Amino acid sequence: MILVLLGPPACGKGTQARNIARHLGGTHISTGFLLREAVEQRKPLGMLAQRYVDAGELVPDDLVISLVREVLQCGDNSGPAVLDGFPRTVSQAQALDAFLPPDRVILIELDNTEVILRISGRRMGPNGESYHVLYNPPPQGLVAVQRSDDREDVVRERLEIYHRQTEPMLEFYERKGLLCRVSGKGSIEEVFDSILPLLG
Ligand code: AMP
Repeated sequence: MILVLLGPPACGKGTQARNIARHLGGTHISTGFLLREAVEQRKPLGMLAQRYVDAGELVPDDLVISLVREVLQCGDNSGPAVLDGFPRTVSQAQALDAFLPPDRVILIELDNTEVILRISGRRMGPNGESYHVLYNPPPQGLVAVQRSDDREDVVRERLEIYHRQTEPMLEFYERKGLLCRVSGKGSIEEVFDSILPLLG
């Protein structure tokens, strides 16, 4: 089973994808996390991707598509896979359709004002888990840091790109009858409760 989770930056898709994967006994695949890891470890992919990630722009489709194809082909394919942050363009959606068509696509909706509010308090743990200084503080003693692309100017760019490049892709899944929308407002548990009925 392939499940795709979509939504603007800071809508909570990373946290929900992680919880859904745990609930289904599947794998959580975050392209943002894999790219940031490749940058930190100075892998060839990271060298190519860094300037896009730092600027909040999309990494070119061919790089991201081959990354996801490799992960899906090399991993344990027996359980469900929850894709977080991929696809993000019509070309990526078409490529995914050609090698592993998704069974479900869930869009977590959140308006721009809420995105900016949330992102200013977001902090990341060492394993890519996300916290919020007010709503979901990191446990005592854990070092959680702000992502360099969570700065307000970069976030505005990421939002602009989401509306311009990712939103047109929603129609691709809508036409296939795969797209389900949930509200990203409310607590982590409330949003998860609205996703649960869509997983059956
Ligand atoms: P995220 O953690 O999902 O917010 O992604 C962080 C950054 O990684 C994005 O701003 C892009 O620069 C890059 N990225 C992640 N996923 C993709 C994708 N599917 N296509 C292109 N760039 C991506």
